[in-house]
Amino acid sequence: MGRKKINQFPIPNRGSQEEAIASMSKFLELNGIAASFKHVAERMGHKNATFYDFLQNILEKEMNYKEEHRVDRWIQQAHFPFKKTLEEFDFSFQPTIDQRLINDLATCRFIEEGKNIIFLGPPGVGKTHLSIGLGFQAIQQGYEARFLKLDELITRVEQEPEIDSSSRTFKTYARPRLLILDDMDFFNTGKNASTILFKLVCQRHELKASTIFTSNKKFGEWGELFGNKERAGAALDRIIGNAVIINITGESYRVKDKVKKMQIMGAVDSLKSTMVEKQ
Ligand code: ADP
Ligand code: MG
Repeated sequence: MGRKKINQFPIPNRGSQEEAIASMSKFLELNGIAASFKHVAERMGHKNATFYDFLQNILEKEMNYKEEHRVDRWIQQAHFPFKKTLEEFDFSFQPTIDQRLINDLATCRFIEEGKNIIFLGPPGVGKTHLSIGLGFQAIQQGYEARFLKLDELITRVEQEPEIDSSSRTFKTYARPRLLILDDMDFFNTGKNASTILFKLVCQRHELKASTIFTSNKKFGEWGELFGNKERAGAALDRIIGNAVIINITGESYRVKDKVKKMQIMGAVDSLKSTMVEKQ
C-alpha cells in the first residue's frame, strides 16, 4: 500500500486578499488568527509597527484562543455539576476554613506532590463548591480534572457490570491528575461498586494522582464503603496517608439564604402593617 491520498487545499486565487487570508487560516485551524488578523492589521497600521510586531501579535491571539478553548473543553470533560470558583466563596461566612490554606491549595502544588484533600462537614457548608473551585484552578494550570459523585459511580457500576480496572470508564476516573470524589456518604455501595471503589483508590495511589474527597460522615464510618475490614484499612491508609484534612464545622450557606429571605419577608410584613396603620 502506498501513502494514502490527501485532499490538496487549493490556495484561493479568487476573491479578496482578506477572504483568502481568512480561508487559509481556517484551513490551517488557526481560528484565532482568522478572527483577529483584520483588526490587528488595522490597529498596527496606525502604530508604525513592524511586520514582526504584526506576526507576534496575531500568533499571541492564536495561542490565547487555543488556550481558552482547551480550558473550556477540559471543563466540559470534567463533568462539574455546577460552576463555582474560589473567588465566589465567602470565607467570612465560614470562619473554620483557613483561607490561606485554600489559597495555598489553589497553587495546585498538592497535585504535583500527589496529595489528597478531604473536606468533611455537614451539608451546605461549601465542600462541593470548594472542590469545584480547586478543580477549575487545576484545569487552568494544565491538569486534567474529573468530578464524580459516589452515587454516580455506584449507578454506573450497576448499569455496566463489565466495568473493571481495564475498562474505559474506569480509566476516565483513574487517570486524571485530579479526581473529585464527591459525597462519600452513600453507604449502600453494593459488592461490585465497593470493589471498583477500592481498586480506584489503589490505582490512584499507585499513580500518585490526587483525589479530593468530600463527605458529611466521620472518617471512622468510611470503612463500610469498601466492603470488608481488610479492604477498608488498606483503602483508608492510602487515602489519609498523604492528605490535607479540612474539617468544616460551620452553618449551612443554604440556611443563610433562607434566614436572609425570612428577614426580608419580615421587614416587608412590618412595612405593610405600618402602611395599613397609617391609612
Ligand atoms: P456541601 O457540598 O458542603 O453540601 P455546597 O458546596 O454544595 O455544600 O454548597 C451549597 C450551596 O451554597 C452552593 O450553591 C454553594 O455555592 C453555596 N455556598 C456554600 N458555602 C458558601 C460560601 N461560604 N460562600 C458562597 N457560597 C457558598
Ligand atoms: Mg456537596
